Amino acid sequence: MTSTEFRKAAHELVDWMADYMDNVGDYPVKPNIKPGDIKVQLPVQAPEIGEEFKKIFSDFNKIILPGMTHWQHPQFFAYFPSGTSGPSVLAEMLAANMGAQCMIWLTSPAAEELEERMMEWLRDMLGLPSNLTGVIQDSSSSSTLVALLTAREFNSAYAINQRGFDGNEKFRIYTSAQAHSSVDKGVKIAGFGIDNLVKVGVDENFEMKPDALESAIEQDIALGMIPLCVVSTIGTTSSTAIDPIKAIGEICKKYKCWHHIDASYAGTALLLPEMRWMSEGVELADSFVFNPHKWMLTNFDCSAYFVKDKKALTDTFSILPEYLKTPEDHLVNNYRDWSIPLGRRFRALKLWFVIRSYGVDGLRKIISEHIEIGHWLKDEIEREEDFELLAPVPLNLVCFRYRPKGLKNESRLNDINKELLEGLNQTGAILLTQTKLNDKYTLRLVSGNNNTSKEEVSKGWERIKKHARKIII
Ligand SMILES: *Cc1c(COP(=O)(O)O)cnc(C)c1O
Repeated sequence: MTSTEFRKAAHELVDWMADYMDNVGDYPVKPNIKPGDIKVQLPVQAPEIGEEFKKIFSDFNKIILPGMTHWQHPQFFAYFPSGTSGPSVLAEMLAANMGAQCMIWLTSPAAEELEERMMEWLRDMLGLPSNLTGVIQDSSSSSTLVALLTAREFNSAYAINQRGFDGNEKFRIYTSAQAHSSVDKGVKIAGFGIDNLVKVGVDENFEMKPDALESAIEQDIALGMIPLCVVSTIGTTSSTAIDPIKAIGEICKKYKCWHHIDASYAGTALLLPEMRWMSEGVELADSFVFNPHKWMLTNFDCSAYFVKDKKALTDTFSILPEYLKTPEDHLVNNYRDWSIPLGRRFRALKLWFVIRSYGVDGLRKIISEHIEIGHWLKDEIEREEDFELLAPVPLNLVCFRYRPKGLKNESRLNDINKELLEGLNQTGAILLTQTKLNDKYTLRLVSGNNNTSKEEVSKGWERIKKHARKIII
């Protein structure tokens, strides 16, 4: 593609993108297709001869677009949002265009230094302790794995990196029964064995019980095992439960355990000083992760990982083959030593664009509005006799179910709510996802994408009620 052809195509695409932003609400939130429907439309073999961009883009519109789930749709209330915004997309355009590798300072000095500064901005914006150092990872899953590996190496004086497990290590990892599956995955990959992941019980609010944590640790010590790391959560995926970070931090300190905080989604809410009760005790943590790529208008991927002992991190991951040595090694952050992959995208640019475009105050207003909408919906649900909340609503995720008057059979209630969710999603007008809380089939509604609003949530809520009340009991 010549630069002239690129210029023309890019202008057309930018127009398309701006229209998409305006009209994303006109698409079905989720496509009504079957597995395989898209693949059959794609040629079995790659084209031998290059094709015109016009043709490629026309196929994008014809084949790909109808098969997309529209995460920025104003009626997308599923999972957690995967945010984006104009400034974020613009930064991605530049980053892709420059195609730079940001693995060490020398390979892109501006990218490295901007990343340092952005992580300082984020740390301070969230009110995190100033002795934390940050690095951008691709995901929370990677960040949690990095924390587990660092805890492992720090505890074993870097011996396992050297000799591998010798079979005598009896490391135990603790997390709540409500923690994200990425903890399980990290424990497996880090070589601890999933049997050594202790799922600590939760209270009626789905928050980890510190007493239960402490007795699990005591029990393990009595059996000669080593409590290595506790992963706590600020904002669980099922219900945004907030673990008692301070109590957990104190227990970790007492037993010399690494404390990693997973604030993947809810971390963004720490922009609001009035929400910092959630992170009380964060100064006791060893590491902390949150995803600007969820709720902070920055498109995937961008996960902000903070660590107290930067040396423990780099001692765990550093590698120094001859071809990567540079004269500045002792002066700069070579981020290749801060995470698993060597190659790194230029992700700090989108943070810079987003934070500067909205300003911290602008971001705060958006997040606080999202939380207000969540609380508004909570009140609405409480007002209806045939609906009930199934978890507290500290943020903007509302967990609820339909419970027609007189119906007490739990298994029937589960069936009805499953039917409700699937029926709603089938319409293509709205998208919700489900979870199980105390064995109850639970609908989750998150009001957190940049295109939603109180009007949209209200429209969605009317839709839910209407659909529910049509179900034949
Ligand atoms: C979304 C989420 C994750 C996983 O995030 P990725 O960046 O997709 O790996 C982990 N923990 C919690 C609490 C989450 O909500």
